[in-house]
Amino acid sequence: MKRVVQKFGGTSVGTLERIQATADIVERSVRAGIETAVVVSAMSGETNRLIGLAKALCEDANEREMDQLVSTGEQVSAALLAIELQKRGVIAHSYTGVQAGFRTDSSFSRARIMSVECDRMLERIGSGEVPILTGFQGVNEQGDVTTLGRGGSDTSAVALAIALKADVCDIFTDVDGVYTTDPRIVPAASKIDRISFEEMLEMASQGAKVLQNRSVELAMRYQMPIHLRSSFVDVPGTMVMNEDDIMERAAITGVAYNRDEAKITIKGIPDHPGIASALFGPIAEAGLNVDVIVQNVSEDGTTDITFTVPRSDYRQAMKIVQGICAEMKARDVKGDDNVAKVSVIGVGMRSHSGVASKMFATLATRGINIQMITTSEIKITVVLEEQHVNEAVKALHSAFGLDSEVIAA
Ligand code: ADP
Ligand code: ASP
Ligand code: MG
Repeated sequence: MKRVVQKFGGTSVGTLERIQATADIVERSVRAGIETAVVVSAMSGETNRLIGLAKALCEDANEREMDQLVSTGEQVSAALLAIELQKRGVIAHSYTGVQAGFRTDSSFSRARIMSVECDRMLERIGSGEVPILTGFQGVNEQGDVTTLGRGGSDTSAVALAIALKADVCDIFTDVDGVYTTDPRIVPAASKIDRISFEEMLEMASQGAKVLQNRSVELAMRYQMPIHLRSSFVDVPGTMVMNEDDIMERAAITGVAYNRDEAKITIKGIPDHPGIASALFGPIAEAGLNVDVIVQNVSEDGTTDITFTVPRSDYRQAMKIVQGICAEMKARDVKGDDNVAKVSVIGVGMRSHSGVASKMFATLATRGINIQMITTSEIKITVVLEEQHVNEAVKALHSAFGLDSEVIAA
């Protein structure tokens, strides 16, 4: 018998009508004899609303209380979907992360799943029930509720699919697949039928928030295929799968962008062993993620280092760096939180040359200045002024031949 996990994002459970439409999809799957487990997000806007309430009271609210608070959003949508399904005669019950056995570490607001103890869920499925799980949450060793980071329901769904040994993890959302870039920015973006785990991981990590990057990381590690599809129209979506099963194609598969970036530059710090470690050690200890790093050639026994962090970590990172730089007697520390990243991604880059030069030329002809560059085997990322993001994404999408012919014509 086939077994699937179906995940429904915020817009798919955003209103009672949408919950009914979601129930239609679940019911169809059950009636087709497929063992079905469901993961839901909070109703769209709900997580932001809850965060807003806390912030109105206190800018710097306690992390444990924040997770306790925001985890409630998913509980509402899960119970409402269970109520709708029960009304239709489908055996369904909702479960929180705690009840479903999602064990995590204790990093509130960005917890990692350690294990999914799914005996109860397996037993429920075995008895013909549809378990409906709250996404985005788990429980730490102390028994406190944790959350998995924004967009974390995708990761809950993939983790559940792996634990239940499902055949596929269906992720239902408000677009009918993964596009060559965000269709909200480039209407000529085209749907990708199949994308490799590796490319999808780069797309998600570089800002394509259509899937949380950790969900793709997990799916890749356990070879769990993801079918990303629309809950609004019943058409095939995008299969995220093994690269071997995909035919060769163009150099570039997609363009991603991320506005959530800030840049810190330290000028004139002593250039000797241990400097980078002294600088980045305390930043890592504070739990901040450093992304692109560029260090200049040393000329006078000193060097300059520039790096990026998520914008939300900017103030904290700046404070740490200023402290260290005062100790090291650096010449200057500068920050800029009006930067963004734009990336071109594709496994085809391994066999096509000239991708970087084409990317740089495309930006140059539009007078867009590149501030930093970083590459991996299947990705080139540039840091630029945030105001240029839309223009850069559109230009690159077109230059690499990704515009869909119908709309571009
Ligand atoms: P959900 O609430 O269902 O999890 P999200 O808002 O998290 O939905 O993700 C879907 C959105 O991701 C789409 O509406 C789209 O605007 C955006 N998106 C960004 N990049 C892409 C891309 N490359 N392909 C498809 N959608 C993308
Ligand atoms: N509700 C959470 C969020 O808005 C988790 C999710 O939707 O995946 O980030
Ligand atoms: Mg999402």
